[in-house]
Amino acid sequence: MNKKHTTLLSFDQEHLWHPYTSMSKPLPSYLVEHAQGVTLTLAGGEYVVDGMSSWWSVVHGYNNPALNLAMKAQIDTFSHVMFGGLTHKPAINLAEKLIALTPKKLTKVFLADSGSVAVEVAIKMAIQYQHSRNKAHKNRLLTIKNGYHGDTFAAMSVGDPVNGMHQLFQGFITENYFAEAPQCGFYDDFDEQDLASVKHQLEQHHDRIAALILEPIVQGAGGMRFYHPQFLKGCRALCDQYDVLLIADEIATGFGRSGKLFACEHANIEPDILCLGKALTGGYLTLAATLCSDHVAQVISNGEAGVFMHGPTFMGNPLACSAANASLTLLIENDWHAQVMNIEQQLKAQLLPLVDLGNVEDVRVLGAIGVIEAVNPVIMDKIQKRFVELGVWIRPFGKLVYVMPPYVISKEELTKLTDAMRAVMQDDSLFQCPKAPTK
Ligand code: PMP
Repeated sequence: MNKKHTTLLSFDQEHLWHPYTSMSKPLPSYLVEHAQGVTLTLAGGEYVVDGMSSWWSVVHGYNNPALNLAMKAQIDTFSHVMFGGLTHKPAINLAEKLIALTPKKLTKVFLADSGSVAVEVAIKMAIQYQHSRNKAHKNRLLTIKNGYHGDTFAAMSVGDPVNGMHQLFQGFITENYFAEAPQCGFYDDFDEQDLASVKHQLEQHHDRIAALILEPIVQGAGGMRFYHPQFLKGCRALCDQYDVLLIADEIATGFGRSGKLFACEHANIEPDILCLGKALTGGYLTLAATLCSDHVAQVISNGEAGVFMHGPTFMGNPLACSAANASLTLLIENDWHAQVMNIEQQLKAQLLPLVDLGNVEDVRVLGAIGVIEAVNPVIMDKIQKRFVELGVWIRPFGKLVYVMPPYVISKEELTKLTDAMRAVMQDDSLFQCPKAPTK
């Protein structure tokens, strides 16, 4: 790394707040110089294979010619116009595509700026829906523990109360209802008891609850857990029984990641409101969408306000919509299903045997997601450095060492990721307690 790079990095350390970091003891950041396909080039000259898809988003790889072209064409047309009173082809085409791809019931599209905002919009929709039906008392949410829905306040209020550190924001954060997280894994036999807590909360509090919000099948940032489709099916039935809307947050799972285009398809259910983001633009720009059923939209629109009360400045940004349109076209052209199934097969073959290692508590694979749960938490800066030395970009959190690579990853590149995962799991010095009990 040359002097210029060192200066840049020390400015970064001194002034730039990175996600979930301290400003007094910041973890080191790596300077990216270039990104191409599934490889990041770091300022130190290292080439690392990306296992994270920049947090679930870069499904077609970096510097993708089709996405570049779509955005360049739109820049030369116009980059942004307000969405109040004006509209444009990129947004119209995107809405058409989303309506065609998502569950049939969802026909109305609200374009938001980020995943968290899409969740805020979904929550507002649910509350305005109940208000418009003269059920203003139904203004709380039900959710399941271990969930994660974003970092804005309403989104945080339905995130896991412990992981989300609700006590820090007490008095400011809305109190919602929490059911126990499902215990039956995706591949386990289903036990009806898994639904008991959701059922209990609905029995007790349905007159206060506007909607049940959850991440279908994959609980991501709250623990990388894969739960049983029957649980989701049961939730849908309970929502209908107790007159509560179902909000599916597919911001992480959407667009093929779990092996279905949308994770709701594992349970064959349709939500009333659906949140999408992350991979929507192939990871090129921030854009999200909240879709709802015609029924929800009509009730809101015929209610007291007569309108839906949200309208961000950059709503429907044409550049972001163009990237999304190109990304959705690529998803089909590249046969996302074959890509994801190949990744799943390889992850299963290469990661599942690691369950026998002493530092490993559990290994799970679903679609293009591979998770190793360690016995002890990782030592973040050490493990990060080791991964870079091994030529991969994998960013664990807590006890979770996981990958969700770009769909375009080759067999060899994926093997590089899983080899690196095996290597770190065999190295006791990278975990907080030196030696795990031997199995
Ligand atoms: N919901 C889920 C399921 C997520 O995984 C995330 C992002 N990790 C969000 C919402 C928030 O999205 P964003 O970071 O774009 O605000």
